Amino acid sequence: MQTYLVGGAVRDELLGIDVKDRDWVVVGATPDEMLAKGFKQVGADFPVFLHPRTREEYALARTERKQGRGYHGFSVYSAPDVTLEEDLKRRDLTINAMARDECGELVDPFHGLEDLQARQLRHVSPAFAEDPLRILRTARFAARFRPMGFEVHPDTMTLMRQMVAEGEVDHLVPERVWQEIQRALHEQEPGTFFEVLRDCGALAVLIPELSDDDRLAEALAALRRVAQQDTSTEQRFAAVLLPLSAEQAVTRSEAMKAPNDCRDLARLTCHFKTALADLSSTEDSIASALLELLDHADLWRREARFEALAQVLDHALPDDLRTRVKALQIAARAAVGVNPRELLAQGFKGKALGEAIRAERLKRIEQALPVSNR
Ligand code: ATP
Ligand code: MG
Repeated sequence: MQTYLVGGAVRDELLGIDVKDRDWVVVGATPDEMLAKGFKQVGADFPVFLHPRTREEYALARTERKQGRGYHGFSVYSAPDVTLEEDLKRRDLTINAMARDECGELVDPFHGLEDLQARQLRHVSPAFAEDPLRILRTARFAARFRPMGFEVHPDTMTLMRQMVAEGEVDHLVPERVWQEIQRALHEQEPGTFFEVLRDCGALAVLIPELSDDDRLAEALAALRRVAQQDTSTEQRFAAVLLPLSAEQAVTRSEAMKAPNDCRDLARLTCHFKTALADLSSTEDSIASALLELLDHADLWRREARFEALAQVLDHALPDDLRTRVKALQIAARAAVGVNPRELLAQGFKGKALGEAIRAERLKRIEQALPVSNR
């Protein structure tokens, strides 16, 4: 049997970047032989094993055939006669379809090295069309490698457009889509992920609210600024959904099966965007309007979430709203200092306690705000 290093590790080494995890392909072996050598089988569907010492993944060479629509329905064929080239052929992009043998020699039947040097993300074969997840992976690799000059090869873009037109993206399960989006949000240039999806038509299926050019531009500008900071998935996702109404953000997050924390921060961000824009036109004083917003965000129980929200607003909102975000932060720092226990000790109870807390918070916000804002 022969063992080859494959996929991302070979690619990243050729690009001169750190190799995170190494994947191996084993040709000419059976599962029993692997088990006899002390490998542990993982995953019931695929013949994939963990090395007894390094814990790295060793997969028996395999071929895949699509049987149904969407991500389900792949039949996997693995046997000692499956060649390395057959295994590489089922992979998504040529730069991901290179291998290195035990002597360190590059095995590159699909010219991945040429594409790597020409900075092209190109599909290995027409079988690319069998798995729509590859559209999202390609967009994600574009987001990662765009700063190094990579782009999606025109033929691959054409193929992705056909796949979308044939309805392939409609059949992706939300969990897989979310996993790719979540990863994409933390790539080098996350905006590129959404641009590639727009270019092939997949964005209109996945986040139709952003198919309007102006809305996408607003989302990408927000995402760029938020992603320049050390920000969480929740914060980056909220930036993407910024052009939506709070209600739309909730509906979209739920359709995508985004985690609740992502949905909630997106909802708050969209709500605050509108509320801060309307702030001057409210009849109440600015202080009480800000207090209402702090209530809405449940600052009192969710201080860390509020900080995350304020950071997104501070970077994602247009410049003319920036002073209002500052006022909101000043109000939050002032109001959060009110200690309900002290008021309780002063004898306030029940409804009166609630009113006293509110009055004290309002007073402190008014004192803290610059005079022009009161
Ligand atoms: P990363 O640095 O993100 O780990 P990677 O290239 O190693 O990038 P993995 O998701 O770890 O990507 O997958 C390992 C290899 O398996 C890829 O390089 C690719 O050859 C192949 N692969 C993974 N998913 C698919 C897919 N859906 N279709 C085709 N090939 C795939
Ligand atoms: Mg990998």
